[in-house]
Amino acid sequence: MTDLHRLSIRELAEGLSQAKFSSRELTEHYLQRIAKLDSQVKSYVTVTPEQALAEANAADAALKAGNATALTGIPLAHKDIFCTKGIKTTAGSKILDNFISPYDATVVEKTKAAGLVTLGKVNMDEFAMGSTSESSYVGATSNPWALDHVPGGSSGGSAAAVAADLAPFATGTDTGGSIRQPASFCGLTGLKPTYGRVSRFGIIAYASSLDQAGPMARSAEDCAYLMNVIAGHDAKDSTSVKKEVDDYVANLSNTSVKGLRIGIPKQYFNVAGLDEDVKARVEESLKKLEEMGATLVEIDLNMTEAYVPTYYLIAPAEASSNLSRYDGVRYGYRCENPADLMDLYKRSRSEGFGPEVQRRILIGTYALSAGYYDAYYVKAQKVRRLIQQDFLKAFENVDVIAAPSAPTTAYKIGANLSPTEMYLGDIYTLAVNLAGLPAINAPVGFDKDSLPVGLQLIGNYWSESQLLSIVHQYQQNTDWHTKRAAIAEENA
Ligand code: GLN
Repeated sequence: MTDLHRLSIRELAEGLSQAKFSSRELTEHYLQRIAKLDSQVKSYVTVTPEQALAEANAADAALKAGNATALTGIPLAHKDIFCTKGIKTTAGSKILDNFISPYDATVVEKTKAAGLVTLGKVNMDEFAMGSTSESSYVGATSNPWALDHVPGGSSGGSAAAVAADLAPFATGTDTGGSIRQPASFCGLTGLKPTYGRVSRFGIIAYASSLDQAGPMARSAEDCAYLMNVIAGHDAKDSTSVKKEVDDYVANLSNTSVKGLRIGIPKQYFNVAGLDEDVKARVEESLKKLEEMGATLVEIDLNMTEAYVPTYYLIAPAEASSNLSRYDGVRYGYRCENPADLMDLYKRSRSEGFGPEVQRRILIGTYALSAGYYDAYYVKAQKVRRLIQQDFLKAFENVDVIAAPSAPTTAYKIGANLSPTEMYLGDIYTLAVNLAGLPAINAPVGFDKDSLPVGLQLIGNYWSESQLLSIVHQYQQNTDWHTKRAAIAEENA
């Protein structure tokens, strides 16, 4: 079969269980596509054909023996921020260029236990700091919809790999938008779960109170399958929550769009820099949901102006602390011929970290320094609480909140935005992480340059099933999620 990459996760699972094709054939198909097409997209940092084929053989044996799970034998790609035993994990940084983890992240362990086949590790902004994936030490990844554009970031490799059909689905992480924004730029569905829903164990830490892993795929249904595998409490992550996990696939039709109250924050649609096409496509998608029975309710989110400054204090503060472990001594990059210990620290870190990571470490260290701690860090924490309360108040009157995922479509590679321009592009996604809420991106059309536009739906705590279900029903009534970039149409 030459069109295995067109099948949804449900179709792949059915095909495997009915022995229409084997996991080995499916895995070889994807490996061939990667070999032929990824030189144009550059989504993979590391491809692992040997391990993938061994896992595929094991999956075929399990399928034959009748002890397969729902997803046994289906391939996926992991963002290069998840530790993988025996395979390099770089987090897009030169400082981890030679790092091979001695253990698997819990998410990886769970995908392996479910019989999923790992194709490799995909590109990302260095330490997940960025919105374009250009800050990776291996270089930029291309947006499959326009190869001279970025796929977004930081999970840009995950988004590009799926959008080019170089993986059926992928894992991503989202600290301030890194699942939703690349999903938006690449025309995919991506879910950022409630903080604590998915284990952070073995995920290279950026900002620990904000980081959360989630699925990136073509549809809400495909995302639901991966959520069923990765969600759940983990004794190895003290911030993961002991709470029953939904069956996200079984719940896909459980939320009725009829009667659903969707909050439209006044402040969000007057943001300077909101692209007209993005605004128009998002409004059309809301009209569609209205036709399907939802009610649109105008709401106030008065803290909107505080999102970017609050996040860009708290995230760098936590990053400066998390990244202090890269000292050139224990693991990772070490400079040549250090004169003494101070020289070893200094040069290993200044040669190993890229400019954006260094900027964040400096900002964060400054915000945490004794003289400024109260003025910056403590104040940001207080504002963070107000942002959370703003959402909770809104959820007294509405079921979900709608917004664009990003104010624009994908930028050109090398557009070289200033740090503040880039940070402002995160305006719609950051508050969700500050509040710890779940949110989803769904593709809702294209701009005048044929680049994808995304709608974001923000839910109350633990509403992942509801968000997936709403998007699933939207996708039953529209076909944006079925559109494919030209490169995905190519056969290997
Ligand atoms: N763009 C944001 C940042 O640079 C968010 C990144 C993320 O979610 N990892 O911090």
